[in-house]
Amino acid sequence: PSPLTRDRTLSLQIIPYGNNQRLLIVRDVSEIKRLETARRDFVSNASHELRTPLTVLRGYLDMLEPEAQGKNPLSEWRAPLMEMKNQTVRMESLVNDMLKLARLEAHAHGQTLQDLLDVPSLLRRVIDEVKAMSQGNHTFEARIQPDLCLLGGETEVLSIFTNLVSNAVRYTAPGGVIRVSWERDGEQARFAVADTGIGIAAKDLPRLTERFYRADVGRSRASGGTGLGLSIVKHALESHQAQLQIDSELGVGSTFSCYFPGERVRVLTEAAPVMQK
Ligand code: ADP
Repeated sequence: PSPLTRDRTLSLQIIPYGNNQRLLIVRDVSEIKRLETARRDFVSNASHELRTPLTVLRGYLDMLEPEAQGKNPLSEWRAPLMEMKNQTVRMESLVNDMLKLARLEAHAHGQTLQDLLDVPSLLRRVIDEVKAMSQGNHTFEARIQPDLCLLGGETEVLSIFTNLVSNAVRYTAPGGVIRVSWERDGEQARFAVADTGIGIAAKDLPRLTERFYRADVGRSRASGGTGLGLSIVKHALESHQAQLQIDSELGVGSTFSCYFPGERVRVLTEAAPVMQK
């Protein structure tokens, strides 16, 4: 292997040609190979994720078999029914996230994502929802530039905000602080979520946006994570030509920053009615 062919998959084809000659066709199929592996991994991970809640459901449903019923009076059913509901909710979130991801990937990048979005009010909505989820366990601070809007897709931008803010809550112990900001940064606009949570080890950072990659599997599952949130964020950002930056320190906290390019940033004048609340 030369530096040119190292880590590459080549396909070679020899075709008889003219008088005793051979034509050698060399094709670089590394990208096709990489996509094939990614697809196979996704199907295998997704099946595995769905199998766990299905096994639990199946176990409880077996208890409903006529011969088992006598041994389990109705009063003993409350806990199993709750657990069956939890597992169903988990499968539902997983399937919803998988559909979101598939839709984002199918989208022609950025073409239709040109609506003028009132980001400050979208953000207030997201913060209110996540605050409810945190049940008063966290302190929220928001620094939002009120006239800063974005050309983009509402569904995609909401996915970015919701996933990052709810991750901050899920990976921060009660009593922690979640800081959300939306501000101009030079020509760009920066959306950031900083938490005082568990943090992420340096070795995990590069792989965090891979589908189903988790730094802490047990904690992610227990907190209702599907393992797809950051992949969704990554794809939604790509469809806005935006960049993700993650800064984190174990035990101290994490900051997720999203940079939207200047072409998508709009600062409204006072006369523009869209910002009136
Ligand atoms: P999950 O559903 O598991 O949260 P994500 O794709 O949203 O999936 O995140 C991937 C992994 O990144 C998580 O399992 C967790 O280990 C880590 N992570 C994400 N956000 C944070 C955060 N704010 N603080 C610490 N770890 C985080």
